[in-house]
Amino acid sequence: DVPAFNTLAVECVAAPDAALLPRVPGLDDALFRSDGTMTKREVRAATVAKLMPMRGALLWDVGTGSGSVAIEWMRAARYARAIGIEPRADRRAMAAENALALGAPGLRLVEGEAPGALDGLEPPDAVFLGGGLSETVFSAAWAALRPLGRLVANAVTLESEATLMDLHARHGGDLVRLSVARAEEVGRYRGWRASMPVTQWSLVK
Ligand code: SAH
Repeated sequence: DVPAFNTLAVECVAAPDAALLPRVPGLDDALFRSDGTMTKREVRAATVAKLMPMRGALLWDVGTGSGSVAIEWMRAARYARAIGIEPRADRRAMAAENALALGAPGLRLVEGEAPGALDGLEPPDAVFLGGGLSETVFSAAWAALRPLGRLVANAVTLESEATLMDLHARHGGDLVRLSVARAEEVGRYRGWRASMPVTQWSLVK
């Protein structure tokens, strides 16, 4: 059957500059304003996939930074909601700007640090720990998570990776290491520019 209308346009969201952006996570990094600490495209796509966006579901994005994970979660399913927790005002401002530009104006931003800032928030269907990782933050998030909720934690430093290895030993789940390299110019040639590897722990409640 040939569709009677442009299905591509229906399934995408038009950006302000009229580019067509898919709802499937993994948007180009250049579409976000960031200060360099943003979760990069390929890792972000793998992260949101494991968080499993669903209609109407709520995500806590702990250490939301530029808001990239929360924004891709909200774009991926209708009525998906997200709360971004971030202590830095400059990063909350970036997240708000990105949310507006990329079709997720409902992103709610909370000032403060986990675990304290998590107190009293509506219980989530999914939690992403992208900053401020510790056993205490995990415990608070895990306790609040609704049944069948998904938790994903990403670590770049050796210290936060050690925390994830310990949590994995005690609680199970999936521990994965993602290494991404991108081809860049090296003089007249090209070479692989490696990003720092990301250790990713995920589990379902
Ligand atoms: N996923 C984000 C990554 C941001 S880097 C993005 O794509 O932009 C991690 C963030 O966690 C930083 O902005 C930092 O300010 C924040 N952070 C550090 N400790 C925190 C804590 N205890 N609670 C909440 N956020 C925290």
